[in-house]
Amino acid sequence: MEAQRQPEWAFAIHGGAGAIPRTASSAAAAPYLDGLSRTAALGRKMLRDGASALETAEAVVVELENNQLFNAGAGAVYTADATHEMDAAIMDGDTGRYGAVAGCKRVRNPVRLCRVILDTRTHMFFAGEGADKLAETHGVSVVDNSYFNTEHRLRALRDAQHNSRVSLDHDEGYGTVGAVVRDCNHNLAAATSTGGMTNKIPGRVGDSPLIGAGTYARNGLAAVSATGKGEAFMRALVAYDICARMKYAGEPLRDAADQIIMNEMETGDGGIIAVDANGTIVMPYNTGGMYRAAADSTGMGMVAIWEETYPIDWKL
Ligand code: ASP
Repeated sequence: MEAQRQPEWAFAIHGGAGAIPRTASSAAAAPYLDGLSRTAALGRKMLRDGASALETAEAVVVELENNQLFNAGAGAVYTADATHEMDAAIMDGDTGRYGAVAGCKRVRNPVRLCRVILDTRTHMFFAGEGADKLAETHGVSVVDNSYFNTEHRLRALRDAQHNSRVSLDHDEGYGTVGAVVRDCNHNLAAATSTGGMTNKIPGRVGDSPLIGAGTYARNGLAAVSATGKGEAFMRALVAYDICARMKYAGEPLRDAADQIIMNEMETGDGGIIAVDANGTIVMPYNTGGMYRAAADSTGMGMVAIWEETYPIDWKL
């Protein structure tokens, strides 16, 4: 995966750790691979055209939020009350500015609201009704909470309730989406968006919107987006800890990320995608799989769910 020469730009996206079982048919896997490939094609086009890391991270996460297969935006999972509450964040590695929202119920694309917050506000983390109202104030599209209803997520809720669990161990439990980008000006950005956990208690917030836990970007170090058991990622401040290991211990991104995801976290907790200042991409996970794709300016383009990776068909 590591490129021999430094790419001009590089990025990775994820559609969540805890993927469909390895035994799933290729027909079941195809829509995920297709959705990730199409989203990667958008990112590649933007970066080729000179878009910034921040613009690209926002745009590809919007695309994933609009895809009902993934647990964010249109495909957000249900809370125990059969409603939807979404968390998201975006961070600019150049300025250190960020925007984050937790528990919003009516924002069609939560990452868009995060970007508006990053660009315009002094306060940077908004929750609940305040976040929904802020979207209206800024002309960010709002919808009724029922917009996020889907049959497959409702089935997952009923299944989880039948088995009395929050879907921590569910095959499709982590479907959060995220992006990490390094643009041709060497700027980094990260974004993450999620519906959280199926059957979560209303009001529960995960790691995705928490800067340093599920999302972090700092120029010169790395951009990181996480997916998995939010409670574990918050405790370990995973995204920041990876950058801290690079900063204070001088570890390369790959060593820092592997140490945390493969050695310090528990099997089944989740995974991360990250890109460093040189455009090196890493995507470790300790779950059965992780929906992911990556590309850079050297021509590398890959998409994967489990261990084996496939070249992206850019003609899709
Ligand atoms: N990390 C998310 C959360 O805990 C879930 C996920 O990654 O799917 O809310």
